[in-house]
Amino acid sequence: MTKTQLREQICLLAKSMFDRGLTGGSTGNISARTDDGGLLVSPTGTSFGRLDPARLSRFDAAGQLIDGDQPTKEMPLHSAFYDTRATAGAVVHLHSCHSVAWSMMPDVDEDNFLPPLTPYAIMKLGKVKLLPFFMPGDPAMGDAVRGLAGKRSAVMLANHGPVVAGKDIEAACNAIEELEDTARLAMLMRGYDAKALSPEQVQNLVTKFEVEWD
Ligand SMILES: [Zn+2]
Repeated sequence: MTKTQLREQICLLAKSMFDRGLTGGSTGNISARTDDGGLLVSPTGTSFGRLDPARLSRFDAAGQLIDGDQPTKEMPLHSAFYDTRATAGAVVHLHSCHSVAWSMMPDVDEDNFLPPLTPYAIMKLGKVKLLPFFMPGDPAMGDAVRGLAGKRSAVMLANHGPVVAGKDIEAACNAIEELEDTARLAMLMRGYDAKALSPEQVQNLVTKFEVEWD
């Protein structure tokens, strides 16, 4: 993929998520690795509905801003994934309604945020770690992701939103949508004593699809 195609794909996928209400206003941020080891990042204060391919923040492989607008304030979250996961080719963060709602529930498993309701959430996300609440812009958010030592591709910031890394921009977006859909299902089924996947079914998925499940 050329840099121009990557710029356009970032903006197209961001707009698609905005149009479906997955992150509103000027929330959410998105980044992707370029072929030369640099990064393209959504600028601070921008809306997913109106990202301009020509104005994305561009970093070189050494982490210096080369051109474009100033990057998102949540850049430390993105850097933490790239620095700890060699396979990370893209990172997406949303303020998505149902996953934020689920993060506030009293009986959520912090080590495995999503209940095992559908196979794709397990296959695309592995175990999602619930991180505590941080003040916006607090660099401790990035430190908390670094503390996971690259073992998780997806985290949920309590009362804030999910952050997901993928091998490329499409994989990261697909995975974060699966996270939000599963949290939505969890909210829908809460209180109904719904039948989740059994531990054996989960283990079979993990084995068959070689899911990272530490
Ligand atoms: Zn945020």
